[in-house]
Amino acid sequence: LPSQSRPALDAAIGRIRESVEGAVLTGADEIAAYARDRSAYDPGPTTFAVVIADSVADVRAVARACTEFAVPLVARGAGSGYAGGATASPGAIVLSLERLDAITEIDVESQTCVVGAGVITADVSRAVLAHGLRYAPDPASASISTIGGNIATGAGGLCCVKYGVTRESVLGLDVVLADGRLVSTGHRSVKGVAGYDLTALVIGSEGTLGIVVGATLRLLPLPPGRPVTIAAFFASAEAAVRASVALGSTRLRPSMLEFVDEVHLGRIDAWRGTHLLDQGQALLLVQTDGLEAAREADVLAAALAAAGGTVELTADPGRADELLAIRRWTSQEAVPIPEVTLNEDIAVPRSKLVEMIARIREIRTRHDVVITVLAHLGDGNLHANIRVPLTDLDGDGSVPSRAADAAAALVTAALDLGGTITGEHGIGVLKRQWLRQELGDEQYALQQGLKRYFDPLGILNPGKVFPSGP
Ligand SMILES: Cc1cc2nc3c(=O)[nH]c(=O)nc-3n(C[C@H](O)[C@H](O)[C@H](O)COP(=O)(O)OP(=O)(O)OC[C@H]3O[C@@H](n4cnc5c(N)ncnc54)[C@H](O)[C@@H]3O)c2cc1C
Repeated sequence: LPSQSRPALDAAIGRIRESVEGAVLTGADEIAAYARDRSAYDPGPTTFAVVIADSVADVRAVARACTEFAVPLVARGAGSGYAGGATASPGAIVLSLERLDAITEIDVESQTCVVGAGVITADVSRAVLAHGLRYAPDPASASISTIGGNIATGAGGLCCVKYGVTRESVLGLDVVLADGRLVSTGHRSVKGVAGYDLTALVIGSEGTLGIVVGATLRLLPLPPGRPVTIAAFFASAEAAVRASVALGSTRLRPSMLEFVDEVHLGRIDAWRGTHLLDQGQALLLVQTDGLEAAREADVLAAALAAAGGTVELTADPGRADELLAIRRWTSQEAVPIPEVTLNEDIAVPRSKLVEMIARIREIRTRHDVVITVLAHLGDGNLHANIRVPLTDLDGDGSVPSRAADAAAALVTAALDLGGTITGEHGIGVLKRQWLRQELGDEQYALQQGLKRYFDPLGILNPGKVFPSGP
C-alpha cells in the first residue's frame, strides 16, 4: 500500500522541489482549494501537498518522486467532478494539470487537434469554431472542466445523443505512467486498430492507471444553419419518457433530448417565480441541427404532440436559450435553502426508462427524500439527485440514513433494469461500494489486476474506483 506518512510526503516534496519548475504548495491556505471536488464527499482533515505542473517534464518528475517514496498521487483537472475522484487522498501529492493548457495544433484537413490535458473544454470548442469545426462533447461544466478531467471520467453532455460522449472524440493520448514513463497511445488517423486499445482503457480510468498530459481529439464539421429547439410539456414524467422513446419511430436522431421532472420544475417555480408547472408535470427539450434542422424539428414536434405533448418550436436563439436555461438550472448556489446534493448518475436501456421513472417515484416515497430528475434521456442517463437540506444532516454532518438508503435503492434499481451505476460522472469514492455488484466478481478481479499491472505500488489515486490500493 502507498505511504500515508508525513515523512514520506516531505521526502517526495524535497525531491520534487529539486526538479520541478511549477509551483509546490504546502501551506494550509494555499492547498485548501485542492482538497475536494464538487461532490458532497468531504474527506475531512487530510495531510497533502499540491504541485501545479508547468510541463510534461514536471509531471514525469512528480511521478518519479512519488514512486521513489511510495507517495499517493492524485491527478486533478478543475475539480468539477461529482464522484469525489479528485479529492486529496491522505499523504498525497495532488498534481494539478491546469497549466498544461496549450492547444498546440489544429489540423483542419484531418479534423483533429492536439491539446494539453489542462485546457478548459469550452476553450477547445471556441478555438476550433474559427475553422468551421466542432469539438462535440459538451458537458454542462464545459466552461470550467478540463479536457484531461473529461477524458479521465469519460464525460458526457447534452449533445452526446447524436455526437457521442468523450470516448468517441479521442483518437490518442499522451499518458505519464506511475513510474514517470511517457507513452503515446492511439493514432492520428480516424481509423487504427494496432494492438490493444489502451486509449479506450485510459478513458474513464479516473487517474488510477496513468496521468493524461495531452490528447489528440477528433473534430467534426460544424453543422450548417441554425439549430431548432422544441419544448414539450407533458401531463406526467412517464408520458414524457414514453414520448421520447416513441421518437425512435421517426427514424430521426435529434442533437439533444433532455428531460426535466415535476420536482425540479416546481423548485424553479418556487425560487424563480415562474409558472412552469401550470404548463405540465414534465418537460422534454429537443433540438435538431444541420441543413434539415427545420424539417426534422417539424417531424419530431408532430410526434411529440401526437404523444400528448404541448409543444413549442423555435428557431430564435434568444428563446432557445430561455428554454434551455430550464435544463441548465442545476447549480446548488442558486438554491436559497442550503442543501447537500447526492448526485446520482444512473443509466438504463431506453426501453426501461419508464420503469426507472416509476421506481424513482416509489423510492422517493419509501425513503421520504426529495429527488429531482434531470436526464440526458436520449442516452438513458438520469441524474436523480437526492436533495438534503443542511438542517436535516445528522449531528456529525453526515447525510441521514434515509438519503443514503435512497441512493442505494436508486443504483440497485438501475442494475436490476440492466443499467449502470454511473453514466458519465465515474466511480470516484462515492460509487465504489457498488462497482463489484455491477461488474461481477470475475471482471472486478480482472480490473484490479489491470490496475496492479499499471500501478504496482498502488500510488495512483488510491481509494478511488476501488476501495483501497491493490
Ligand atoms: C455544474 C456542473 C455540471 C456538470 N455537468 C456534467 C455533464 O454534463 N456531463 C458530465 O459528464 N459531467 C458533468 N459534470 C461533472 C464534471 O464536470 C466532469 O466529471 C468533468 O469531466 C470533470 O473534469 P475536471 O477537469 O473538473 O476533473 P476533476 O474533477 O479534477 O477530476 C475528475 C477525475 O479525473 C481525474 N483526472 C483529472 N484530470 C486528470 C488527468 N489529466 N489525468 C488523469 N486523471 C485525471 C481525477 O483524479 C478525478 O478522478 C458537471 C459538474 C458540474 C459542477
